[in-house]
Amino acid sequence: EEAVRNDELVYQHDVHKQEAQWEISLLTSLDRAIDNGEVWVAYQPKFDMRMNRICGAEALVRWTHPERGPISPDKFIRIAEEFHRIERITRFVVNDAVRCAVEMGRLGFEMTMSVNISAQLLRNPGLPGMISEILATHGLSPDRLILEITETDRLDRSSRTFQMLQRLVQSGLRLSIDDFGTGNATIDYLRYLPASEVKIDKSFVFSMETNKEDMVLVQSIIDMAHSLDRTVVAEGVETATAMDLLRERGCDIAQGYYISRPVAFRDLVETVSKDAG
Ligand code: C2E
Ligand code: CA
Ligand code: CA
Ligand code: CA
Repeated sequence: EEAVRNDELVYQHDVHKQEAQWEISLLTSLDRAIDNGEVWVAYQPKFDMRMNRICGAEALVRWTHPERGPISPDKFIRIAEEFHRIERITRFVVNDAVRCAVEMGRLGFEMTMSVNISAQLLRNPGLPGMISEILATHGLSPDRLILEITETDRLDRSSRTFQMLQRLVQSGLRLSIDDFGTGNATIDYLRYLPASEVKIDKSFVFSMETNKEDMVLVQSIIDMAHSLDRTVVAEGVETATAMDLLRERGCDIAQGYYISRPVAFRDLVETVSKDAG
């Protein structure tokens, strides 16, 4: 029996070792990937349901590895956070998003660009400087940029993170509470964060069509956010039914495969042109 347990331990040790090696090799290639152009930014339109038009887009990072193919951001963002590469990736994404927002404006389409900011980066005092530098370089007005923040820890109003978020808003940037309803500090974020937008997590949107309780929750989130003057975005809108339900319940903006998958910037331009024409 002892031998069996030892085998099991050796096996687990090997698995951990393999995982660790895999992560290290991913990390090493990630360092080159940005310079090589393997990392790029996809854009997913946000659709304003009252105006019936595309009003913005979310920048979503993509990594197309030459041998391994596409690697999910859920996977490499976690590794980037762990090994201090998140600042570099975020700089790359924000720069691309801001450049594309300016290009959209030049083409006659005024829209907002949303970027995802890791909770870890919110503890980095260099963040506001990095963003304002990128905005200045491209000459984009800060109110065109929305920072999507995911609720993770409790929000302490005396914390440096909270003060930095307030400074970002004072400088004209907008905040969005991402994955709303899934974290453990949902109400705190709604109460204290000077966010202009709330994004209902796609897990609620998926199940609301068949689950009555989830539909009630979605309605409550919409009403609560509206009472606090927040714009409501639903993510993961995949069907016409979901679209209709959300519109009926007063949701402001929809985002999801039903409207468009995340696409390369030139395809976003095409979609937006068709939408406006
Ligand atoms: P998220 O911010 O919640 O982004 C929404 C995710 O849902 C995206 O996955 C998007 O492609 C996907 N999605 C959009 N519409 C639909 C739909 O109708 N159905 C379904 N099933 N999925 C839909 P993606 O692009 O794989 O990104 C996963 C997560 O990785 C993001 O979740 C975000 O947390 C993170 N991420 C992506 N790009 C960045 C980035 O530049 N920086 C940081 N820090 N995180 C990022
Ligand atoms: Ca997001
Ligand atoms: Ca989400
Ligand atoms: Ca997320």
